[in-house]
Amino acid sequence: NEQSYRWQRVLLKVSGEALAGDQMQNIDPKVTMAIAREVATVTRLGIEVAIVVGGGNIFRGSSWAGCSGLDRSSADYIGMLATVMNAIFLQATMESIGIPTRVQTAFRMSEVAEPYIRRRAVRHLEKGRVVIFAAGTGNPFFTTDTAAALRCAEINAQVVLKATNVDGVYDDDPKRNPNARLLEDLTYHEVTSKDLSVMDMTAITLCQENNIPVVVFNLSKPGNIAKAIKGERVGTLIGG
Ligand code: UDP
Repeated sequence: NEQSYRWQRVLLKVSGEALAGDQMQNIDPKVTMAIAREVATVTRLGIEVAIVVGGGNIFRGSSWAGCSGLDRSSADYIGMLATVMNAIFLQATMESIGIPTRVQTAFRMSEVAEPYIRRRAVRHLEKGRVVIFAAGTGNPFFTTDTAAALRCAEINAQVVLKATNVDGVYDDDPKRNPNARLLEDLTYHEVTSKDLSVMDMTAITLCQENNIPVVVFNLSKPGNIAKAIKGERVGTLIGG
């Protein structure tokens, strides 16, 4: 029964890096299939799932800006297009296992996907479809983390679940410092004042201003996506 879960509607943010897995290719089909399977289990429970996909596995605007005269806006539009590729890959994977899925893009690509229409996105969710938001916010100089916070607020989802390749937020870089501790609970203020690399400032302050909790967790651990969506304790919870 739907009432027994912590969240009724969630916004899952899947970074491009997470989609790449440890493969040489840009996208690891095993990762997308694992995401699809876990999302399938929770949509069957009646939890509504919207997804924002990143594009960093293919193209990250900020690291290309400046190369051969590429201005930041052009680089960012390429980055946004990269997220559309990931979205279509994920949609095809989800539909291959029978999850009805719609992709909505922040700028029009109507032969490929629906344009973002807030009320229509909500309607899809109510009908049990998974909605994948692609092309970020549609604006250069932003990130897909900000798109996740924005869409979460717009569709009245209750939480941003940020799926990454690390277990959560640490007090130091766990790859360099073996004694780095996983922080299970953080306030928005702790994240911004200690400059913990969770999300960019625009994204985290948007969550703070709208009282949207953020869960940062590791998607490469089997079962974690479903756990996070069901509101079970995983990774780091940012709120308050
Ligand atoms: N991007 C953008 N505006 C947005 C979202 C994304 O310009 O609202 C561009 C930006 O160049 C970014 C790229 O798309 O580097 C890929 O998104 P992001 O880096 O957020 O993906 P992730 O880190 O989640 O893989």
